[in-house]
Amino acid sequence: MNKQELIDILSSNANNEWLFSRANQVRKENVGDEIHLRGLIEFSNICKCQCKYCGLRSANNQIERYRMSKEEILSYVKNAVNLGYRTIVLQSGEDNYYDTDKMCEIIKEIKKHDIALTLGIGEKSYEEYNAYKDAGADRYLLRIETTDKNLYEEMHPNAKFENRIRCLEDLKTIGYEVGTGCLVGLPNQTIDSLAEDILFFKKIDADMIGIGPFIPHAQTPLKEASIGDFWLALKVMALTRINLPTINIPATTAMETIHNNGRIIALNSGANVVMPNVSDIDCRKKYEIYPNKAGTTEDAKIYRTELETKLLSIGRTISNDKGFRKKF
Ligand code: SAM
Ligand code: SF4
Repeated sequence: MNKQELIDILSSNANNEWLFSRANQVRKENVGDEIHLRGLIEFSNICKCQCKYCGLRSANNQIERYRMSKEEILSYVKNAVNLGYRTIVLQSGEDNYYDTDKMCEIIKEIKKHDIALTLGIGEKSYEEYNAYKDAGADRYLLRIETTDKNLYEEMHPNAKFENRIRCLEDLKTIGYEVGTGCLVGLPNQTIDSLAEDILFFKKIDADMIGIGPFIPHAQTPLKEASIGDFWLALKVMALTRINLPTINIPATTAMETIHNNGRIIALNSGANVVMPNVSDIDCRKKYEIYPNKAGTTEDAKIYRTELETKLLSIGRTISNDKGFRKKF
């Protein structure tokens, strides 16, 4: 689709039913009915950044911070592997405590299991990304958040849009499967820029795209801002599926948080991935990027069984493979 077509669809709700069912069909034809589960471990909520939308920003002194040890992380990995997970996602704030050596040690230990490993630990140098890859990491998640440079720099004090792009290019060059994505509903974000976001995903040939509605957090500068619109976020996601048919698209936690059936609606509108949290419930609560985050109370084992039943009820099954993008 060209930019004007994307803008037309994003600007009107008249064709929503068609759009969601078309995206579902494209998903079925290109990546099938299997859902890939990624076991998520949020191993540190300490962050040096100041992203204006995020509850983990360093200026928020009202949350209790934590860091997991290597042993703790490995014990959650082991549990997840025993539950049948074939991919682990390690996510954190930008926490310099985990230097290259520490990260590589953790990666190597995790990769002793026969699983894929995704990292989502922020902006790093080429050398650091390269070292993680050499240690065994397979994929990397780094959302562009918005392709509107002015808005990007307004939302990220002290950060540069060009560096974000540099990171994504480095990750591609090094050979990661690269995940990116955007927030929907940031203050002053336009439909025009959301259309640009989708064109950007296509231009960089992203392998995974996560789309999340923005949810205001009380201890951030955006506490008074309006919450992102679920249906607009879903439209961005559905258009992403139609324009990048073979990629992996998660039904994001933010969607489940703002709509009580958000995950299933997303899975029926182009998504094919779910990322259940497989770590300690106490830490999940402290990883409060926004309030009332879905999935912070369920035991990992019970959740997996319930999820399987839910997915079967919509004609979907859980994949047993590592869930790389089909073209790989
Ligand atoms: N620190 C890493 C990074 O920024 O890439 C990974 C962790 S960060 C918490 C993961 C994602 O959370 C970000 O890419 C951002 O889009 C999302 N996020 C943060 N605050 C949010 C909010 N208030 N509403 C919705 N999503 C949010
Ligand atoms: Fe830190 Fe990521 Fe939150 Fe930004 S979005 S403050 S980098 S955890």
